[in-house]
Amino acid sequence: MRIGIGYDSHRLVAGRKLILGGVDIPSDKGLIGHSDADVLCHAIIDALLGAQGLGDIGNHFPDSDPRWKDASSIELLRETVSRAQQNGFSISWVDSVLILEKPRIAPYIKSMKENISNTGIPAERISIKAKTNEGMGCIGRGEGVAAYAVCTLRST
Ligand code: MG
Repeated sequence: MRIGIGYDSHRLVAGRKLILGGVDIPSDKGLIGHSDADVLCHAIIDALLGAQGLGDIGNHFPDSDPRWKDASSIELLRETVSRAQQNGFSISWVDSVLILEKPRIAPYIKSMKENISNTGIPAERISIKAKTNEGMGCIGRGEGVAAYAVCTLRST
């Protein structure tokens, strides 16, 4: 069995969409990045790559590559899941945490799981949790969003 960990963060700015787990969440600010800056998908991608010893998202989807400009991170995750399967792994479990002050995420978690399950990770093997940073630090001030993810892979 392999275990991987992933972390990501992006800044919140006006004039961008807030996409988390592939869900377009109503918000006065969104995340800025080369792709759609979906921190949850990026953390899960890094966990999947880490479990295989394949480096990180920057190695596979470099932000210098125009192919990934404004890319849907759900598509990047689909590509990553597919590569893990080609490498002989099945995904046993993904657990994750989103950290942001607002908006409330609970109403969107079911849709996030559906989107992520469409990349090839069964919905019953995905856990998504969300919490605030209790007003502390940059996330507490609403300057950004962070996400952690852990996964376990099994050889098929
Ligand atoms: Mg990122």
